[in-house]
Amino acid sequence: VSRELRRDPLSGDDVIIATERVVERPPSPEHALGREQCPFCPGHESHTPPTIQAIERDGRWVARAFANRRPALVVEDPFRIDVDGPFQAATGLGAHEVLVECPDHGALHHQPVERTADALDLARRRLHDLRGDRRLRVLQWYRNHGSAAGASQPHPHAQIVGLPVVPGRVGRMATRARDWLDRTGRVLLRDVLEGEVRDGRRILFREGPITALCPFAPRHPYEVWLVPSEVRPGLADATDEEVEGLAVAMRRAVRALALVTADAAYNAVALGAPEGEDPRGIGWHLRLSPRLLTTAGLEDATGVALHAVFPEDAASDLRDALGRDQP
Ligand SMILES: [Zn+2]
Repeated sequence: VSRELRRDPLSGDDVIIATERVVERPPSPEHALGREQCPFCPGHESHTPPTIQAIERDGRWVARAFANRRPALVVEDPFRIDVDGPFQAATGLGAHEVLVECPDHGALHHQPVERTADALDLARRRLHDLRGDRRLRVLQWYRNHGSAAGASQPHPHAQIVGLPVVPGRVGRMATRARDWLDRTGRVLLRDVLEGEVRDGRRILFREGPITALCPFAPRHPYEVWLVPSEVRPGLADATDEEVEGLAVAMRRAVRALALVTADAAYNAVALGAPEGEDPRGIGWHLRLSPRLLTTAGLEDATGVALHAVFPEDAASDLRDALGRDQP
């Protein structure tokens, strides 16, 4: 097995190449594992790497984390960046964990909200713990739901990846936030949230300290952001109240998205600041992106996304769905 994190010398985009990944392709729905073979169902703990951390209720785990069996990057690799002229490659150092989010095999948004809250609490704890490894510059949480979104197991699970370098996209976000701060003396994410609330057309709902909205320039049709009122660097910094609000908001938003998109696959990502950076830079927020389209040449050629749904219309459809949802 070999793995490397290489940077495109022209675009600055990064790629992880891990030879082990080749053998793993998301199964088509008819080949998805049932409960009997599911490695994430209770009783099958020996089918996964050992538990690193778990949340328990009544003496049984309700969420548990372990190392990814086919990791993109591993903590055991030494850290080294090799630069040869324009070519930069880092060794395969990093973190890649799987978080099984609930004991039940069914979709998380059909389960009581406590399951989502415990799953997000475990994510926060793992991110906090991984911070101790100062070699990791960027820590991000994400979840794939549905094979079109890259999920290789139907059992609800999320992942955390830790990278030894700040990738191009995260670096650009950090730079934009810093430039905004220098120019205006204000925090960019706070200004975005205040602007959205003032405008109102793209707001879906407010749940405690979390606001759900359709972003001004969505990369994906029906993209939804969940934004906390207080700007903090990472999901690791979220308060108990924010995790609880986020759980309710994520479940509500995912249920509404399922109604509007006919249960399309989606990705959820918690974006945040590079580790150890100015906390007034990027603040954490969660993005839900339904996978309704495959990307094509335009995206590859220009980096510009193309789709057919204005966020003002998406917000209107989603508000209708929220009104119809019977939790
Ligand atoms: Zn299962």
